Amino acid sequence: MKRILENIIENNRKWTKEGELASYIPELTRADKDALGICVTTLDGDEFYAGDYKTKFTIQSVSKVITLMLAILDNGKDYVFSKVGMEPTESAFNSIINLETNTLRKPLNPMINAGAITIVSLLSGENSDDKFNRILKFTRKITGNDSLNINEQVYSSEKATGNRNRALAHFMKSLDIIEGDVEEILDVYFKQCSIEVTCTDIARIGAMLANDGVLPWNNERVISREATRLVKTIMVTCGMYDASGKFAVHIGIPAKSGVGGGIMAAVPRRMGIGVVGPALDEKGNSIGGIKVLEELSRELDLSIF
Ligand code: GLU
Repeated sequence: MKRILENIIENNRKWTKEGELASYIPELTRADKDALGICVTTLDGDEFYAGDYKTKFTIQSVSKVITLMLAILDNGKDYVFSKVGMEPTESAFNSIINLETNTLRKPLNPMINAGAITIVSLLSGENSDDKFNRILKFTRKITGNDSLNINEQVYSSEKATGNRNRALAHFMKSLDIIEGDVEEILDVYFKQCSIEVTCTDIARIGAMLANDGVLPWNNERVISREATRLVKTIMVTCGMYDASGKFAVHIGIPAKSGVGGGIMAAVPRRMGIGVVGPALDEKGNSIGGIKVLEELSRELDLSIF
């Protein structure tokens, strides 16, 4: 496996020259554009790495999968999906127009920003610190990494510039889609996006999902099988932004990307995969990361379809 991963990274290094770092959050331009790394975690808990797998990056939208799981644990799936839809979108992840024009009268799904901000409003917790600490604690559990924390620079940068997310949140407040204090909800959202990880951390989240909710390294169940099935389905239909259809056709693995350059993938009953490659395409997906997953899926026949 290690040899396969090393070959795939070398074959696809050229792609890091394409695309751009996310710059709408200024601090993200400090990422290493040339980095390309992968980690695979099997359901026996074995781990294989190649390339720049030690590169740290902020989890960004991969965190939307984590908060969706937590919201389902807190409220049950029926309540969660009374507040957000489960339909894919052809609009960008931070689309404003889509929120007003879609016929559901709620965010289309939990993987776009409007949906993820709504999900935060559903989380249990006395106040925003309490909510974020629950997210961090759950993330540490499902990554088996007690030292995870936020990158303060990215958090401050996003909080200072996140006016588009503020617009989405205030608009949803005006429609009574979200309850509670808008700035507090956004603060939790900005913090969850700023959790700093490596591809090993996200490969382990993928492995837990691939293993139907049980942590491969200690056999602890953290979420029901039914919930993981739902989450993996939403990852297939909505996880790669408005390029989810193309990704499903070419790669065929439930996955979630983030603008920090990470992609978390879960191959049911086989493995979790984490890749990092901060250079993004115009949709916000890692170019190198997608190419690496495409070759790995072909090589090991990982498509679920
Ligand atoms: N924190 C980012 C934002 O809200 C996350 C976007 C992403 O990774 O898709 O804009």
